[in-house]
Amino acid sequence: MSAPTTLPAPSTQEELNPFAIAQAQFHAAVRYLPDLEPGLIEFLVRPERLITVEFPIETADGRVQNFVGHRVLHSSIRGPGKGGIRFHPDVTADEVRALAAWMTWKCAVVDVPFGGAKGGVCCDPSELTESDLRRITRRFVSQLGDALGPFVDVPAPDVNTNARTMAWVYDTYAMMHPGENNLPVVTGKPVDMGGSLGRAEATGRGVLFACQRALARGVVDGLDSLDGATVAVQGFGNVGATAARLFAEAGARVVAISDVTGGRYNPDGIDIDAALALRDATGFVDGLEDTEPISNDDLLALDVDVLVPAALENQIRADNVDSVRARFVVEGANGPTTPAADRALFERGVPVLPDILCNAGGVTVSYYEWVQNHENEQWDEDTVNAKLLAKMDRATDAVLDAQARINGGLDGLERQRAERGLNGQPLAPVDLRTAAYVLAVGRVAGVALQRGIWP
Ligand code: GLU
Repeated sequence: MSAPTTLPAPSTQEELNPFAIAQAQFHAAVRYLPDLEPGLIEFLVRPERLITVEFPIETADGRVQNFVGHRVLHSSIRGPGKGGIRFHPDVTADEVRALAAWMTWKCAVVDVPFGGAKGGVCCDPSELTESDLRRITRRFVSQLGDALGPFVDVPAPDVNTNARTMAWVYDTYAMMHPGENNLPVVTGKPVDMGGSLGRAEATGRGVLFACQRALARGVVDGLDSLDGATVAVQGFGNVGATAARLFAEAGARVVAISDVTGGRYNPDGIDIDAALALRDATGFVDGLEDTEPISNDDLLALDVDVLVPAALENQIRADNVDSVRARFVVEGANGPTTPAADRALFERGVPVLPDILCNAGGVTVSYYEWVQNHENEQWDEDTVNAKLLAKMDRATDAVLDAQARINGGLDGLERQRAERGLNGQPLAPVDLRTAAYVLAVGRVAGVALQRGIWP
């Protein structure tokens, strides 16, 4: 036998394409919806539209640089497309397809009347100036043209974009549509130009609310609140930093945080205000006083009550899931846990509060911003936060109840599958992610059926 020309794949090799993962999650769930017609299932999993644009800008150093951006409208069944725009060197069409699909299911889980969309420009913001980023934003938005619109597709911030970016999105669209109320074309805007109070903190606050509700409902044996609980947060961007601060304010001991420069650890608890001040001054948490460095792998493996992955996709995978010792995984990021890792955690009895529920606070308050913009209103922050709490509680209850209903009715579901001639593996009890998908896909399919397939 001749020697292999490439190294054998490690036994832990797994599918890490986010769109393949999103499709696998969807297909795992539709097995529990035996009434759905195969053609409808296919319609629901496929994106309605993918736009890819390639464009140049003149950068601050006088060069012409070219960029590729994508905007995917996954579904407009329940309302206009909704979802962020990210700037990151790893952006691909498949990543944006996955993120757009996750938005569809997320909006359905929290029951806001939006479909799902997402955008991304492949670029490295750390190597670009503010004026470069402004030109990229403007050119990207202008090339998307009428694919964006208050009743078509409504962007928001995501990885490496923020309220300032959304101001440029708004301004570019407003230049193209003079004389109209264009404020609802984008959410996450600065508060003094139509942004909602509470929007900047909403994703992190929603993570806190979902986690607290799940704990109060007994999802984790012996842990019914965050009071005194130990927490590790991966990622110190908008979501992670807000979550760390609010978890600490809620009585948790945040023992580890991290950003692109690495992690910081203090078993007695990190002073999150000091971390925020350092990040605001330097951009990073590197060198934070009274903490020691910790690697990303070691942070994920900490023996904590709650682990909050709040960075990027594919952080908890087949090859590192066995080292995860947290009692509860609370997904601030989109797609941080792979299907193989989900399975391993479920088998070990470690619940994962899934992204499409857990980080839905951002899009929920985006919806409130959109409503305020249409009504020319500004709600006070307590009103926004109270409405967010009610939404997150209701959505968390709905997912937990769906899980109990599905797992308590497996025999009936098997019978329905058999009556419809559906075969395959026997149905097994579902984790919280699959329960959230069953709830979301059922809601989207229900609306599709009421609307009817056009014409
Ligand atoms: N980018 C956020 C998310 O992934 C917010 C999207 C929005 O507000 O439209 O949920």
